[in-house]
Amino acid sequence: MIGELDARIPEGPLADKWDNHRFHEKLVAPANRRRFDVIVVGTGLAGAAAAATLGELGYRVKVFTFHDSPRRAHSIAAQGGINAAKNYKNDGDSIDRLFYDTIKGGDYRSREANVYRLAQISVEIIDQCVAQGVPFAREYGGLLDTRSFGGAQVSRTFYARGQTGQQLLLGAYQALARQVHLGTVELHERTELLDVVLKDGQAVGIVTRDLVTGEMRSHSAHAVVLATGGYGNAFYLSTNAKNSNVTAIWRAHRRGALMANPCFTQIHPTCIPASDEFQSKLTLMSESLRNDGRIWVPEQMDDPRSPDQIPESERDYFLERRYPAFGNLVPRDVASRAAKREVDAGRGVGPLKNGVYLDFSDAMHRLGRDAIEEKYGNLFQMYDRITGEDPYVVSMRIYPAVHYTMGGLWVDYNLMSNVPGLYVLGEANFSDHGANRLGASALMQGLADGYFVLPNTITDYLAGLLGDPPVPVTDPAFANVEREVDERVRALLAVNGSRSVDWFHRELGKVLWDNCGMERSADSLKKALGEIPPLREEFHADVRVLGENETFNQSLEKAGRVADFLEFSELMCLDALHREESCGGHFRVEHQTDEGEALRDDEDFSYVAAWEFTGVDEKPVLHKEELAFEAVELAQRSYK
Ligand SMILES: Cc1cc2nc3c(=O)[nH]c(=O)nc-3n(C[C@H](O)[C@H](O)[C@H](O)COP(=O)(O)OP(=O)(O)OC[C@H]3O[C@@H](n4cnc5c(N)ncnc54)[C@H](O)[C@@H]3O)c2cc1C
Repeated sequence: MIGELDARIPEGPLADKWDNHRFHEKLVAPANRRRFDVIVVGTGLAGAAAAATLGELGYRVKVFTFHDSPRRAHSIAAQGGINAAKNYKNDGDSIDRLFYDTIKGGDYRSREANVYRLAQISVEIIDQCVAQGVPFAREYGGLLDTRSFGGAQVSRTFYARGQTGQQLLLGAYQALARQVHLGTVELHERTELLDVVLKDGQAVGIVTRDLVTGEMRSHSAHAVVLATGGYGNAFYLSTNAKNSNVTAIWRAHRRGALMANPCFTQIHPTCIPASDEFQSKLTLMSESLRNDGRIWVPEQMDDPRSPDQIPESERDYFLERRYPAFGNLVPRDVASRAAKREVDAGRGVGPLKNGVYLDFSDAMHRLGRDAIEEKYGNLFQMYDRITGEDPYVVSMRIYPAVHYTMGGLWVDYNLMSNVPGLYVLGEANFSDHGANRLGASALMQGLADGYFVLPNTITDYLAGLLGDPPVPVTDPAFANVEREVDERVRALLAVNGSRSVDWFHRELGKVLWDNCGMERSADSLKKALGEIPPLREEFHADVRVLGENETFNQSLEKAGRVADFLEFSELMCLDALHREESCGGHFRVEHQTDEGEALRDDEDFSYVAAWEFTGVDEKPVLHKEELAFEAVELAQRSYK
């Protein structure tokens, strides 16, 4: 049984904590760094940044990705931008304001000290990326340009057209490739972590499967860093890359790492609506579009006219009407629920009546088509290719979709989980976004974690291991985990049932979306909790996994991931059921204001819910990290 959680939040005033902490942490001298092995799993922004930086510092790093190149990590898909408190626009921004917006945006369910540090580091990230040559958009005078994102009244989002993630990842990848070339980083592509190895309660390595040959291998190190992304694909349909999954953090959870706030899922308001039941992927239309796009529905129900034929006077710009202060740039949870309300009331548009309009005609008149094309050209092209509709002429159709997961493995201020030596970065941890992430804050957090936080905090743990060699892979601790992994893989292949892996995944997705999606209630969650275990049982009795282990086998890869989603989802619903309040993306219908906004219960739920695994089909144990707020006053979130 795990004892009381210690978040290791440093003493002192908020603004000084990070400096104080770095001063008091133990260091590893440059000549000693090459005596430490560190495993980094993941080559997205968080993992690539961490591996490159640790390599540059002189550690011996092994980095793993299941992709064929680090550049394929899901981070490459990020479109809109990255926040930083540079105040280049001179519009009143500051570290304090970014901190405050992020805490409020997260509906007061994140840790003040982490968020403040994030706001401080945001400034350094931009400098670092510019130095790497990331081609951020610039203004005429040469200064970096910014735009606005939801939940802020300042313009602090740095961007590279609609391809910010791609450009940032190329920057991190270059830095990583340099270290690979120098020999400090060993890169393992097409290699999937299937389990984490602990010895005497400490993380000492991982067991992987070579996705081309099926070979199982153990890797040992002084510390293990997971930067394996989010679990939004539990819902089957999401904006995430198709192979993003929960396996790495779920397997670590099964070995003792606590899972924090798994029910905090972000539904993004501006995605292309699903066009039929068999669709396997949803596409995001970046939040940046809400800088110039206006969201509306026709006032007349079932209006048969094309949107460009409906005059201004017959349109309801419902976000501008309901939230005049922030208008179309209210945070994602608020915008998503507002759109859902319109569609549920029968005012949806498009062939399936499952969308609302996002319209640029105003901006086109004001700024001209060239300016719009310059800012959003690739997004407009993508929309046109997917829907066959030209958004320069007719309004886009959009609808909310699963996009990001705020929950993840619990970590302390050092980004270390409760398992000593196991660190978790980026979307895989729960750390900074509370119950709702503001747009353009994930890239900021991933890069802060990888470039700046972990390299400064991991020293405190490693310094204590100076002189100790890593546990050899011949140790029984590794052999035991290898055997378990092997049995798991072979069991999946042996079922030889009648239904495809995708069938089970789609079924699970429907259960989650209908019962633990944009709205949840005690009844819906109990229903999901009644449906998931039998589905999991059926999966293990009737799944058909084609092919063999010793070859490239994507059916087998998927089966392992879906098996983990089937276990994880139950915890997600349980967490949602226990949290008897609404906050951010967690909207319990029983807990709302008269105006339909999320109603928090600070008295009873101002804590991080960190769950301990006790076995499949067993009730997990809840640990609470109470959230203390010194700098901000808790208030009902208002964007009016
Ligand atoms: C369409 C889209 C647009 C977005 N736009 C923005 C934006 O404009 N601004 C913003 O701030 N955020 C944006 N986000 C969110 C942001 O992109 C992600 O949160 C962020 O990129 C996650 O980075 P990461 O490094 O944590 O993980 P990822 O980029 O998901 O990387 C995970 C890595 O882990 C590896 N991995 C995972 N599991 C295993 C395993 N078991 N074994 C081996 N390797 C493994 C993968 O191969 C990959 O290399 C967007 C998200 C989406 C879906």
